[in-house]
Amino acid sequence: MRSALRRLQGEDLCAYHSGDCTLVSEAFGAVPGAAPAAKPSTARGLVNRLVHAEASSALVAALAAFGVEALALAVRGGVRIKIVPSGRHFARCSPAVAALVPDIDRWQAPPAGLFVLEERLVLLRAGALRMAAAHEFAHALDALLAARQRSYFSFESEDIRSAYASASGFVNEYAASGLDEYFAESVRAYLEINDDRSCWLPLTRKMLFTRDARMFQIVDALFRSGRLSRSRPR
Ligand SMILES: [Zn+2]
Repeated sequence: MRSALRRLQGEDLCAYHSGDCTLVSEAFGAVPGAAPAAKPSTARGLVNRLVHAEASSALVAALAAFGVEALALAVRGGVRIKIVPSGRHFARCSPAVAALVPDIDRWQAPPAGLFVLEERLVLLRAGALRMAAAHEFAHALDALLAARQRSYFSFESEDIRSAYASASGFVNEYAASGLDEYFAESVRAYLEINDDRSCWLPLTRKMLFTRDARMFQIVDALFRSGRLSRSRPR
């Protein structure tokens, strides 16, 4: 209920007539995108390879939105997704997390997901929101597109650095917190991967287009150019 009320604050809310009722929703799909979702069966096959097990339907549905090229790139690049049951510490799942952020499980609000650059590993709580899965997977994509090892494309790209430095608006405040978050949340907005359970306002492609046209062009070109299928991760 709280998240539903919060959504009424969205500046892009539109009202649609549907039968004898009026539907109020964000403007999903209002701006065309270049990333067709992977078919469910194809997505399941690829996501199972990332998880090294039978992936949940929720995870498959969330990541299918990235499209076949992005999912295949993640498989090629050796990305792993580990589902972490509640009660199990993130630091126990990854030597890099144990070394770099050993107290992460004692944080006041431990994250629902994490991307470990050193290990190309996505850690996700079993009940994580689909937007958390998408956000962390976008970090993995950012790492796979980098020219250098253990780096991010968003750090290396002059275009992204310049767009970030000169942006007059961001899709949300998290996107403004660093280049990697800028990339992840902009991609999530472009793909319109959200979760009704979240208190964060849903992100839409239109939002990215109107608030940050330069970043829209960069993300759109990424999905449109065939770069994802050509990319050979280091
Ligand atoms: Zn992040």
